[in-house]
Amino acid sequence: MTRNKNELPIIIIGAGIGGLTLALELGRRGIACTVLEQADDFNEFGAGLQLSPNAIRHLWALGLEKEITAKASAPDKIIIHDALNGLHLNEVPLGQTMIERYDAPYLVIARQDLQSILLAAIENTSTLQPTGQSSIQLKLGQKFVTYSQTETAIKAEMENGETVTGRLLIGADGIWSRVRHQINKDTIPTSTGLIAWRAMIDWDQAPDLFQTTNTQVWLGPDSHLVHYQVSKGKKLNLVAVTKGRAKQRSWSDTVPKEQLFETLRPWNKAVRASIMDIPNWVAWPLMILRPFQTWHKRRMMVMGDAAHAVPPFLAQGAAMAIEDAALLSTLIADHNQNVEKVPPLFQSKRFKRCQRVLSKSIYNCQFYHARSTLRQIRNFGLKRMPTKFLLRQYDWLYKG
Ligand SMILES: Cc1cc2nc3c(=O)[nH]c(=O)nc-3n(C[C@H](O)[C@H](O)[C@H](O)COP(=O)(O)OP(=O)(O)OC[C@H]3O[C@@H](n4cnc5c(N)ncnc54)[C@H](O)[C@@H]3O)c2cc1C
Repeated sequence: MTRNKNELPIIIIGAGIGGLTLALELGRRGIACTVLEQADDFNEFGAGLQLSPNAIRHLWALGLEKEITAKASAPDKIIIHDALNGLHLNEVPLGQTMIERYDAPYLVIARQDLQSILLAAIENTSTLQPTGQSSIQLKLGQKFVTYSQTETAIKAEMENGETVTGRLLIGADGIWSRVRHQINKDTIPTSTGLIAWRAMIDWDQAPDLFQTTNTQVWLGPDSHLVHYQVSKGKKLNLVAVTKGRAKQRSWSDTVPKEQLFETLRPWNKAVRASIMDIPNWVAWPLMILRPFQTWHKRRMMVMGDAAHAVPPFLAQGAAMAIEDAALLSTLIADHNQNVEKVPPLFQSKRFKRCQRVLSKSIYNCQFYHARSTLRQIRNFGLKRMPTKFLLRQYDWLYKG
């Protein structure tokens, strides 16, 4: 790869998991990039992420195995229950099974921990460069508003009046992407009619029923709960999804948690009482982005949730953003002298897989939230499903 010292940087809008992973991927290859993040700091509401082998393989390739292993937990299995009667339905083995089958583990981690690991690795990229200078610039408090482009360059304009000129502008700015809006004004997220309720509590405060090192899933009518250990066993992370609407675009405590408790009234008493024992539930409206055909406009493009946000029924949003980052950095390195070729190539290589993840997520929602007869059919099937069939349905995704 021929590199020009005065080359314009790749501009990345957004320092979420997707934007930071891409910056690190580019930085490791010595390709200059500037990350522009609207937030003034990285303090965000605590939330957990399940990271499947398809994501972990890329993070290992970035050399983050030691750091991630030090912070993440490795559950042995996912235990699936019916939430109405509390009955055990089946188990998906993780642990060694995932490593043997997919060459990487299945881990759970606090989002903040992953973000801190990526930030520290970005800071260290300078030590890997012959010049001792990092090729990554990260600027906080920079809200992207608009752009202009010529044949050879693109200029990002910020709300504070600052501008940054680059040779490619990548919107990693999440589901409400401003960059996507500049590409195609009609792609607006729509409500799923569901709310995700999240809580993270100290492990020693966790109700007995939830004190397990395994991931547990409870399937109820129009609702479900997933919980797992994060921060090396110091915290318990919980996500419940129920029907409902919330106006906010951020984690917020303005939807009263009594609404959650009321929705779960038909649930098994012990499970519901354990949920009610947890004080700090906050609500997030779940939105969906219908597939759209144009992820790019000349030197501008989107990735991650900005391009293909999915509801969290397959735990793949961050994983897809990480896969995007790995592919994008390879394409940029391969076409470093004419990066304008990258956006259409990227879309053609990613579109089908991301749509398949979306379809499977929507299917999982119906499966998880089944009621009456469908629930009975689901439980009957799940109880009898051999482990090898349970595992086989993830091969296309985790081998990815
Ligand atoms: C309840 C729930 C559970 C989930 N669980 C999982 C899971 O277990 N596993 C998994 O893989 N995924 C999970 N996800 C999905 C995952 O969180 C997202 O898909 C992932 O974070 C997307 O990353 P991203 O970098 O594309 O976008 P984001 O994380 O949304 O980051 C976007 C960044 O861009 C910044 N930004 C936005 N607009 C601008 C602007 N105009 N200018 C500058 N900066 C801007 C934002 O401040 C933010 O920092 C879950 C999601 C939800 C809601």
